[in-house]
Amino acid sequence: MKRLSGWGRYPQIEAHERRSEDLARICEGVVLTRGLGRSYGDASLPPAGGHTVAASPLADRILEYSPASGVLRAEAGLSLEALNRSFLPRGCVVPVSPGTQHVTLGGMVAADVHGKNHHVDGCFGEHVRRLVMLMPDGRILEVSENHERELFHATLGGMGLTGHILEVEFRMKPVPSPWIRTETEPIADLEALAPRLSKAGETWPYTVAWVDCLGRGASYGRSVLIKGRWADGGDLPGRTPQPTIPRRRPRPLRLRAWFVRLFNALHHWRHKARRSALESPYEFFYPLDGVRNWNRFYGKRGFTQYQCVLPEETALPRFFELLRRERIRPFLCVVKDCGAQGRGMLSFPRPGVTVALDLPMHGTIQREVDLMNERVIEEGGRIYLAKDALTRAEHFRAMEPRLDAWSRVRLKWDPERTLRSAQSVRLLGDPA
Ligand SMILES: Cc1cc2nc3c(=O)[nH]c(=O)nc-3n(C[C@H](O)[C@H](O)[C@H](O)COP(=O)(O)OP(=O)(O)OC[C@H]3O[C@@H](n4cnc5c(N)ncnc54)[C@H](O)[C@@H]3O)c2cc1C
Repeated sequence: MKRLSGWGRYPQIEAHERRSEDLARICEGVVLTRGLGRSYGDASLPPAGGHTVAASPLADRILEYSPASGVLRAEAGLSLEALNRSFLPRGCVVPVSPGTQHVTLGGMVAADVHGKNHHVDGCFGEHVRRLVMLMPDGRILEVSENHERELFHATLGGMGLTGHILEVEFRMKPVPSPWIRTETEPIADLEALAPRLSKAGETWPYTVAWVDCLGRGASYGRSVLIKGRWADGGDLPGRTPQPTIPRRRPRPLRLRAWFVRLFNALHHWRHKARRSALESPYEFFYPLDGVRNWNRFYGKRGFTQYQCVLPEETALPRFFELLRRERIRPFLCVVKDCGAQGRGMLSFPRPGVTVALDLPMHGTIQREVDLMNERVIEEGGRIYLAKDALTRAEHFRAMEPRLDAWSRVRLKWDPERTLRSAQSVRLLGDPA
């Protein structure tokens, strides 16, 4: 038995974990498959009660790659980090990158991850051509747009509840160089944030804003808008960028609001004028990967990341007003633009603006999540399951009119709900 948790280290559940290069073999009889455990909450955890899960990272072979078409087929445990290491020097990247490269292909499909380019490239699932899955009844199926289409769509963003993903086939994206050209600019107030983000998205494929939610008075809500694109042209370094090696283990020190406030002030001072730079994609896409085990800075109780999408730009200042009024103080806050909804029946993104907040676990966290969820429901938005640990079943149902259609597909393939997670017990009423 071992204590498993997601990246937020809350909750922690005692379970058995199987690991092998033969993923299909270890998936038999388990309640869930997980990847590198980078979802924040309880999506990758089994229900409490000593269940067994399969962990995919040893099943990490590239099975086929065509340089001509860019189509790559690999085992589900292959990490984005391994793909970057092999393909970036060859002028190719995975078309959608989340904010860490320590994720597996299976996890990227199951959460249907999005990146800073959602407004142009959609979720990872939009680039997936085919999956090989082990179904709860033991059958191995190929699923795609042409074969078991419904199951394919239910699996993109289906949080591992529709079957075990064994293989993923998708198309890599050619890039003109391995470097990113960036531009950053300050935004003084929250009213301007969403319009500036969407304006930037008209000409930049990668956009994101870091918002200061700990600043006092007029500093509250000041943001840095970051824009990027793959660099081309002649003045580029002749070397391939290397990932930042996280050197120091975090000390047992706990992150405090005053420290983050100071960090934010420095960050905004550095970006008080528009700046252009050439950056390594590792720094641009995965800034937090440079700090080893940064999730431990939140102390033993851990933290939660709350992420929602709000359909209307005008909802953003209202949402921040709620945070301010209710004294909800995220240490980190990131805002991104979302483009069109994709194929995944339960995938998170929809047109609008998404807000992600890191909140340390504390006595009133449930109340804070409830308040934010009530607001999200009023605004017609929804939350991201890959981050969630605290949403109530009735709130999830109220924000997910797609749930019944997705559940019908899930139950068709797994009527007994043998595949389940701590999250599906909490949100969908699955048997523990
Ligand atoms: C620092 C950081 C930044 C992040 N930024 C983003 C971001 O920008 N955008 C974004 O979308 N997400 C982001 N995430 C979330 C992360 O991308 C997703 O949670 C992703 O699913 C994690 O992949 P994993 O391999 O660790 O999967 P896990 O966390 O282990 O599992 C996630 C889900 O996938 C299922 N799963 C995993 N493998 C399989 C399989 N082989 N078969 C069936 N189901 C499977 C699990 O059951 C679980 O439901 C971020 C996470 C971190 C820690």
